[in-house]
This record gives sequence, C-alpha cells and structure tokens, in this order.
Amino acid sequence: MSTPWGKTQAAPVMPCSLQDVMSEQLATELQHQEEKESLNAGETRTFQEILAAASENSAETTDDWLLAQMLQQEFDREHDQALKIEEKKFNGNNKVSISFENYRAVHPAYRDDEEEDEEVDQDEMENRKSAWDSPSPKFNKSGVSGKGKNITTKHDAVICGRRNASKIMDFGPEFHSGDGEGIDMKLSNKVYNRLKMHSLSETKRSQRLHEKKEFSTSEHVLDPRTKLLLYKMVNNETLESVGGSISSGKESVIYHAYGGSKEGVLLSHECAIKIYKTTLNEFKNRGAYVDGDHRFSRDEFKKNNPRKVIRIWGEKETANLNRMKKFGIPCPAVQVLNKHVLVMSFIGKDQIPAPKLKNAHLSVEDLEDAYEQVVKIMDTMQNKCALVHGDLSEYNLLWFEDKVWVIDVSQSVELTHPKAMEFLFRDCYNVCKFFKKAGVHNVKEPEQLFNQITGLNIKGKGAEFAAQVQRYDKERSAELLAHQITMKEYAFDYYFEKSQQDRLLEEQEEEGEDLGEVLEERNDPFEYFYEKSLQDKADRGEEAENSSENEEDDDDEVIEEELKNADERTMDRIKLG
Ligand code: ADP
Ligand code: MG
Repeated sequence: MSTPWGKTQAAPVMPCSLQDVMSEQLATELQHQEEKESLNAGETRTFQEILAAASENSAETTDDWLLAQMLQQEFDREHDQALKIEEKKFNGNNKVSISFENYRAVHPAYRDDEEEDEEVDQDEMENRKSAWDSPSPKFNKSGVSGKGKNITTKHDAVICGRRNASKIMDFGPEFHSGDGEGIDMKLSNKVYNRLKMHSLSETKRSQRLHEKKEFSTSEHVLDPRTKLLLYKMVNNETLESVGGSISSGKESVIYHAYGGSKEGVLLSHECAIKIYKTTLNEFKNRGAYVDGDHRFSRDEFKKNNPRKVIRIWGEKETANLNRMKKFGIPCPAVQVLNKHVLVMSFIGKDQIPAPKLKNAHLSVEDLEDAYEQVVKIMDTMQNKCALVHGDLSEYNLLWFEDKVWVIDVSQSVELTHPKAMEFLFRDCYNVCKFFKKAGVHNVKEPEQLFNQITGLNIKGKGAEFAAQVQRYDKERSAELLAHQITMKEYAFDYYFEKSQQDRLLEEQEEEGEDLGEVLEERNDPFEYFYEKSLQDKADRGEEAENSSENEEDDDDEVIEEELKNADERTMDRIKLG
C-alpha cells in the first residue's frame, strides 16, 4: 500500500472477536508488530522529517499529498494565531480567563511556542543548585545520624543554620534575601524566625497593595445602569453635580455630590452618594444580617434577583438612618433613595470628608470626649432605636465639628434579630479596644459596657462571656418563636406606625399651611417621601407591589441607547473617578 509515509505491506485482515479487540494485550502486540513492520520498510519518515526534506529541496515539491499537508499546517497555524488573539481580547485583564485551547488546530506536539522556553528555564534552575543544597546527613527516626564521635543530631547548629539559610529562598519574591550563592551561609533559628515573620508581613502587604490596585481600577467603573441613574438625577436637578470618589469598598462605593432639589425641597448642599454593589458574594456573606430581620426577610432575599436584592441594603440603611436621626444620633440625613443609589448628607466640608476616628489623630481629651459620645450613641441605638449597629468600630465613626457621627448602617439589625446581642457584644469589644489602645482612661471592659447598655447581668469574661451572650440570643429567639410574635408586633412596625400617626397629628395641626413650608420645617425631607411611598405601596397591596417590581429595569440596550443620547452638558456635571 502506498502512502506519503512510505510503503507498508497490507496484512490480510483477520476476523476476530470483540473480546480480542478490547484486549489490551492484543493491542500492545499489534502495535509492536506494526512498529516492526514499519522499521523493516525502512522508508518510514516522521512528519517532521518529511517537512524537513521538503524544505531542503523546497524549489519544487512534486508530492501533492505533502503539499496539501504543508498547506493545511500553515493554515492551522494561522488559525491558531488568530484564535490566540481572540482569546487575549476576550479575556482582557480578567482574573478568570477562558481558554480556547480546545479549538486550536495544530497538535500540541507540533506547536513551537512558549512551553519549550519554560522547560529550558526549569533545566537551568535544576543546574543552579547552591552550596545550601549540599546533601545534609540522613537522620533516623530519633533525629540522629552517624555513630560514636561523629554523631550529629538534627538540631546541630551548622545543619540547622544551613537549612535555615536555604529556606529563605522560599520566601516571597518581594523579599530581598540577597545572593548567598556560593557562600556557606548559616542562619540561627532566631534570625530565621524574624526573617520569616518579616517575609510573611511583606507578602501580606504586597497582596493588600495589589488588591487595592485591582479594586481602584475596576471599582471606579460604574455599570451603565448606575451611570444612567446618576445621569437622570443630575438631569432632573435632584443633584447639581456628582464629584469624585470618596471611598471604594467591598460592598459599596461612595461619591461626593452637590445637592439640587427634589419636588421643591432642597437637598443638603453637599451630599454623599452611596452605591451598593451588585455582586452575589456579598449577599452570601451578609445574609446573616438580613436573616431574622423581619423587615427584609430571607424569603424576600431568596426570591429576588440580585439587582432587586441589592436595593434591600439601601432600604435598610435608609430606614436605620431615619430612625437614628429621629432619636438624635448624629448620622447622615437620607436625601433620596433611588434603587441601589442612596443620597445622604455629606459629613465633612468642601468635598473633604470627615476623618474616621481611626485617622482623626485626636488629643487625649477629645478621645475621652469621643468615647463618652460613642457610649451614649450605643445606648440610644439600643434603648431608643431598638437597633444594633453590627459593624461599629473606629472605621465607621467619623469625627466632625467635635462630634462623633455614625455611618454605615446598612447591616444594622433590629433587637429582635437572632444574633443581635452577639453583634452588640462585638461592637462593644471593638469600641473598647480602640479607645483603650488610644490611651483613654476609664474605658470599660467590653463585658461591662455590654451589661450597662443592655441592662443584663451576664457573668464571665472573654470567650465565656461571648458564649453566654450567644446562649442568651438563642433562648430569646426561641421564646420569640414560641410566642409566635407576628410581624406587626416587631419594633420596626411599631415605630413606623407611630411615626405615621405622629405625622397625621402634625399635619392636622398644620392644616392650611403650604406643603412646601411644612416640608421645609422637617429636618428630614426625604423621610416624608420615603415613608409615604412605603405607605402607598402598602395601600396598593401585593398586586401593585408586583407590578411595580416589574416596572423595573430597562434592558441593557435601552440603557446604552439612553446613555448615548445623554445630554453632554449634564454628563459634564458627572465626574466620577
Ligand atoms: P462601606 O460599607 O463600604 O464601609 P461606608 O458607609 O462605611 O461604606 O462608607 C465608606 C467610607 O465613605 C466611610 O468610611 C467614609 O469615609 C465615607 N463616607 C460614607 N458616608 C459618608 C458621608 N455621609 N459623609 C462623608 N463621608 C462618608
Ligand atoms: Mg464602612
């Protein structure tokens, strides 16, 4: 039989049973036989040899089959190159990339790309063994090697020293260990341990920096839906302009803005816009905060799609801030909530946000004052607002005009939350730790502060105390369940309804007055609209609620189109970044 690979003797095909065909032994035998035959044939060349031969006398190739093969391979190579470019374009800088490997046409064996280089590098590395790699004696189970006078233990200072010196080469690449090659370097355990600690912290620091960089580049890019929301708010003069980014965190980004007016009511001159982010991961982590908060029950959480779910954070933060404001806690005043975009008053001045307690560098007197304020805030939150912050620390407390301001309450929970007391103890712990470390005298122990705020008398300290707090949470939740407390009896509804009644009374008293004036008298104009919209929603009932859910989002194309046609002057007033 003639093929471009040479001539082979066509062996008569003998019928055989399926069992034989499946037999591995038979397969091996057949292969051996085939190889022997092809060797005998003497003319057999590998594909590469054929190509090499072809390129030697490339002036003319008469073998059509070979030509076809060569053309095909050239074509395949081009195809793969195009595919590689496509793959690069598709993946961009994404962390998770998709490989088009399976669509490549050239067999891996015939690829002449980077993998070979890697192998070379590997070989080079193998050859580059240093003095440290000189074999150390083999120790038996009890860590001893040699006999009599020549006995060495695995704790031998020289061996340990060498081993330590060699191990520093395994530290992170950012760790400059110097070039100890060729020197019989030894490091004592003490020095090694210190270097190791340093290396670990360096690695962590560089990771953090890296993460920050990744974040700051990706975070500033808002999705078109959010951009359009901001655009509309500027276009309808709710906001005068949107300025630069204040913060970019895992769960939200914050921008500065100058307020306009909504329905005739002026917004704060300076505003902070909090945009909740729409990835699923955070929901998973934060589910615990919503779980058990009847206002935003888990069922709602589950059945909603991510875009709707993210709004819950805005609604939660809004409700919590409003309630805190009502009881006089210094916190941002909610101005407008639009889907997952919350506009609140800005704590700070001239676009400079107030510092967090962590960075405020207060004098000891101011710190002492701040501590008293925080304790008072915690007490009011607990005993008046019936809320637990849940993430209270020097990071979420700002210092502005000699006052402590509380922010970031989207995760704050009702006292009826099954883990409310656990969260409260954690808050106490963080607050006490910060002020104590900062040098404030008379800072209470977290356990003491917890008992003072709650009026409970839980005994013990540290982990034991925490365990008792958890037990308390559990028993109380069980009790609540046993009494089958209905939604209406929860604190939120109580306060909500009460505020509605107060408003009605207030409005009756103010009857005849201009609506604009009435609203201006309220220090929190948003609340009126927000609660009114909630009430309206409730009045309209389930059906209306569903349809309003559907009113919902425009699809992506419409959004892109609207953005494309956006007014340029309005766009100029939005400067993210
Ligand atoms: P996150 O959930 O990302 O921690 P925060 O609400 O804590 O969100 O806001 C992040 C940062 O943005 C805060 O630490 C603070 O510096 C700044 N910030 C948030 N809200 C305001 C505001 N109303 N006024 C001024 N700065 C704010
Ligand atoms: Mg925060």
